[in-house]
This record gives sequence, structure tokens and C-alpha cells, in this order.
Amino acid sequence: MSWFKPHATLNTAHETVVDRCINCGHHQEIKTTITMEFGEGNYNTGPICKPCYNSYRPVRQVQAG
Ligand SMILES: [Zn+2]
Repeated sequence: MSWFKPHATLNTAHETVVDRCINCGHHQEIKTTITMEFGEGNYNTGPICKPCYNSYRPVRQVQAG
């Protein structure tokens, strides 16, 4: 009888996500995905890292908890 971790593939939501931050352009730990405005009508949706997120307040700020 083989044994394996059935929950191994269900933990992706809690794993650390490292991607290219649209604000600073560095590969860092991602906080969330936001839409930023770069001038008139120029919108860019993408991931934002934790340090940038802490210093940048999105228009739609969601307070969890
Ligand atoms: Zn950043």
C-alpha cells in the first residue's frame, strides 16, 4: 500500500509566489495582483511585490480581517 500526500497539490494558494513586480520590475515575493495607471488611459495589470504594495495604495483597497 503506497502512501502519499493528497493535499500536496491543494496548497498552491498558500505557497509563496515570486514573479516580476510591475512597479519595481524586480522578481520578488508577490503580494497580490493590481491594476496601476501609468498616465492617461495607460493601465497595466500585474503582480506587485510586498514592499511596493506596502508603499502603494490601490484605489480599491481591500482590508481582510
Ligand atoms: Zn515591486
